[in-house]
Amino acid sequence: MLGVSDQSGFKIVEDPAEAEVIVVNTCGFIGPAKEESVDTILEMSAHKAGGSCQKLVVAGCLSQRYPDELSRELPEVDHFLGSSDMLKLASVLGGGQERMLVGNPARYTMRASDPRVLTGQTHRAYMKIAEGCNRECSFCAIPSFRGKQRSRDITDLVREAGILAAAGVVELNLISQDTIAYGRDLPEHRSLAELLTALAEVDGIRWIRAHYLYPEKLTDSLIEVIAEQEKVLPYIDMPLQHASDSMLRAMRRGHGGDRMYKVVERLRRSIPDLVFRTTFIVGHPGETDGDFEQLRSFVEWAEFDHVGVFLYSPEEGTPSGDMTDTVDPEVAKARYHELMDVQRPLSRERLELRVGTELDVLVEGLSDESDLLLQGRWWGQAPEVDGSVYLANGTARAGEIRRVLVTDAADYDLMADFIDGPVGRDAPPDAKDPRAPKVKLRTLT
Ligand code: SF4
Repeated sequence: MLGVSDQSGFKIVEDPAEAEVIVVNTCGFIGPAKEESVDTILEMSAHKAGGSCQKLVVAGCLSQRYPDELSRELPEVDHFLGSSDMLKLASVLGGGQERMLVGNPARYTMRASDPRVLTGQTHRAYMKIAEGCNRECSFCAIPSFRGKQRSRDITDLVREAGILAAAGVVELNLISQDTIAYGRDLPEHRSLAELLTALAEVDGIRWIRAHYLYPEKLTDSLIEVIAEQEKVLPYIDMPLQHASDSMLRAMRRGHGGDRMYKVVERLRRSIPDLVFRTTFIVGHPGETDGDFEQLRSFVEWAEFDHVGVFLYSPEEGTPSGDMTDTVDPEVAKARYHELMDVQRPLSRERLELRVGTELDVLVEGLSDESDLLLQGRWWGQAPEVDGSVYLANGTARAGEIRRVLVTDAADYDLMADFIDGPVGRDAPPDAKDPRAPKVKLRTLT
């Protein structure tokens, strides 16, 4: 939508009070995101009364999911676009009067030729490799408003990666609802492994990270690409959601808790120096103390690098939303805090293993904490979710990948000093070095 605005001759301003058109891009995934979206719409509508705003546009998943309700309840909104109607913003900006422009997302996929503007950090970009999802996780409403999976063509994605690289992007973060299933819906049956291999050929792209790998149909060829292709980071982002059999069954994930252990062990064994991020849901209907205990001991066993915990949010139209054996919200909250408390020292321990070692860091600019520090991320930290590396000694340009020596670790962040040295995939940990990162998993019997 920023690309469309730019192409339509509009200037993008930071301050909504200065805008003639305000576009609120909403999320309709779970309760808290919906609330935040509605609050933002209401907040922005104030600029119509007192500012320069002439048009208020609401776009995204919330309007896709609830077009009639929003249209009725929010008369101050001039136009509604859905989750696949980004290009229709051109008609709104061109003076079109139609208010309801929510279309059917079932056929939409983005193309490299669509206009795109990078904001904020311009050396990293997300790339949407597919839309929609074919799975039926019982808690999730996404397939109902995003449709079945439609993967983008490899050639088109390579073209987009080339455009991004020419604009200065060095880090590509691949996203979709179900990234591991990439390409299975294409007539020629392509795979994520093939896509990663093709993207690694793009000049200028240095780091490629695949987010949201569902824990199934993990092929040897995908593991091999992640383990061996220099540009593909040995970073797995795999939402596991739970570890108890009964919860995974209730969530309709298609596998039991045993699979979770095996998947983690297989990945740790096959990918040297793996960094593992996952997410869990606590408080799903039917979750007993025993189920939570199983999840807790799984987290203690697996020693993930990064864990996100979400409180279950009941969503209408989902099987879980109709379940009656709900968990007391206070109990769910307590489990959330307990799991975070279990993970915090584990995250820190994983980071402490890096102290004294050399890493590649993508410099992102001045630190949020102090103008005296630079801030970046080592390859084991994904943007926005995994913490930062703070650099105190030297200068660098944002977007540079530099070699650093790690000097200290906190719960989620590292401190490091620049050193001169060639950058590239960090040397595999030396087993004799007691400080080197190592796999500490107990083997399954
Ligand atoms: S795989 Fe992800 S997007 Fe698809 S149904 Fe499950 S939770 Fe929702």
